[in-house]
Amino acid sequence: MKSDNAAQLLADELAGKFPDARGRFGPFGGRYVPETLFAAFENLDAAVKQHLHAADFQAELARELANWVGRPTALTHAPKMSAAWGAEVWFKREDLAHTGAHKINNALGQALLAKRLGVKRIVAETGAGQHGVATAAACARVGLPCTVYMGSVDMERQAPNVGRMKLLGATVVPVTSGDQTLRAAIDEAFRDWVANPTDTFYIIGSAVGPHPFPYLVRELQSVIGKEARRQFLERTGKLPDAVMACVGGGSNSIGLFHPFIGDASVEIIGIEAGGTGDKLGHNAATLAYGRPGVLHGAYSLLLQDADGQIQETHSVSAGLDYPGVGPEHSLLLWAGRVRYEAATDDDSLAALAECCRLEGILPAIESAHAFAGAKRWAKSNPGKAVLIGLSGRGDKDMPTLQRTLLAVKE
Ligand SMILES: *Cc1c(COP(=O)(O)O)cnc(C)c1O
Repeated sequence: MKSDNAAQLLADELAGKFPDARGRFGPFGGRYVPETLFAAFENLDAAVKQHLHAADFQAELARELANWVGRPTALTHAPKMSAAWGAEVWFKREDLAHTGAHKINNALGQALLAKRLGVKRIVAETGAGQHGVATAAACARVGLPCTVYMGSVDMERQAPNVGRMKLLGATVVPVTSGDQTLRAAIDEAFRDWVANPTDTFYIIGSAVGPHPFPYLVRELQSVIGKEARRQFLERTGKLPDAVMACVGGGSNSIGLFHPFIGDASVEIIGIEAGGTGDKLGHNAATLAYGRPGVLHGAYSLLLQDADGQIQETHSVSAGLDYPGVGPEHSLLLWAGRVRYEAATDDDSLAALAECCRLEGILPAIESAHAFAGAKRWAKSNPGKAVLIGLSGRGDKDMPTLQRTLLAVKE
């Protein structure tokens, strides 16, 4: 779905003009919030401008990323998968980052920013619990109390992560309103923040929400792409032919993609959750099947029905199960720079099994969607090189894998 002014949108993106003064990425993004929240967002915007790229903040962040998170994460060549698929396969290993996924890059960065602003407490939302765990860990590290809102349905489904958050010192608040999952939890976290906007900082979990969150999260996650681009050049003397990552809200993918957007020779492909098929409600492939609308304070593509009602989504992976997507991805789709495709539950689980068997790595089911996409790409690009964002490790997915891949078929 390329827009009529795709070339202009791409030129503006490459020139660094987005987000603009109104927080827009071309037609997308912005700040659709009640008046009571406006001042809080203006203050956050000012704080991001003042601190994020300041030398002392960047030095502190770099130190913590190195010594506590364990960056840079490895770039791994996958020789057996390459032989099986017919293209050269490389992984950027966010599964090796502290707490097991890319989410810590963002949670730590925002927690350090909050500390600098002198706030007294942190709030966050979590769906599957991964962002809640990363935020609880980061808050323990910087020394701030942390409250995590989590849908009561999710708390039951993700009990081990609730325990991890509690061990790390967070207070977990069950959300029994609305759909009792991630969407309702985000609403509650926002409500808490509006009630205490000066002494509280809201750490959002993906590259979504009102400006400046999509920009802040992209900047913090871009460490993935910056490292990967440098490592790939060092190891091979060239750039990859394609870069691929899974897209839920879009944070690990925008972090990997952003430093490659100006490299015209590099194909960039985002892989969404194709679930059980292309019918509304059977997937979470927002960019593939969505239409523009407002969700959680930003204008972006959304899965909605003909009346504009947000649709229930389905994915075997909890981390991709979200009806919206960060606004910069909608821009990159309309600008024709990134292609977005869907991978089904079954194809993703099969790719996960292949990665385990061939490379000795158990990836998150989210990440396995990117593998399924890369396998398809490899068929039509023999001998070329693909860099895949391995966003997290799959240990958290064992209950799902027991029910699916490991279930004894009669
Ligand atoms: C949360 C999560 C995702 C999806 O979130 P994005 O914001 O799209 O990156 C992907 N992979 C893993 C391992 C996750 O925990």
